[in-house]
Amino acid sequence: MEFFDDVINKTRDAIDVAYKKTNEVVSIQRQKFDIAAMESKLAKDYQNLGRVCFDIINDEREITAEAKMLVKEIAKKQAEIEDARAKVSRAQGKKFCPKCGIANVSEAHFCFACGESFIEEN
Ligand SMILES: [Zn+2]
Repeated sequence: MEFFDDVINKTRDAIDVAYKKTNEVVSIQRQKFDIAAMESKLAKDYQNLGRVCFDIINDEREITAEAKMLVKEIAKKQAEIEDARAKVSRAQGKKFCPKCGIANVSEAHFCFACGESFIEEN
């Protein structure tokens, strides 16, 4: 019986690993989908800000509180997207460049695209 118990346990472990991997893939896909949705919202914010700024400049007015709020909102969304991208890159075993947005291998000390250093300065 010990042999069968062993087989059953090994099979169960294999299923657990496969299940975990599938969940990771689904999770990464979902996160990518969320990032695309955030980018779409960001694009709308930019468009909105463009319209508001156009009116301000066209009417030769001072920068309004609305425009400042939109800029803050955009900066917040940019940071959220950057965090989400970094999370996905980490999950995929990649290192996300905070400067240019390119994914590097996780062992990289510098970005292969822009040369940004990944070495933390203390
Ligand atoms: Zn870079």
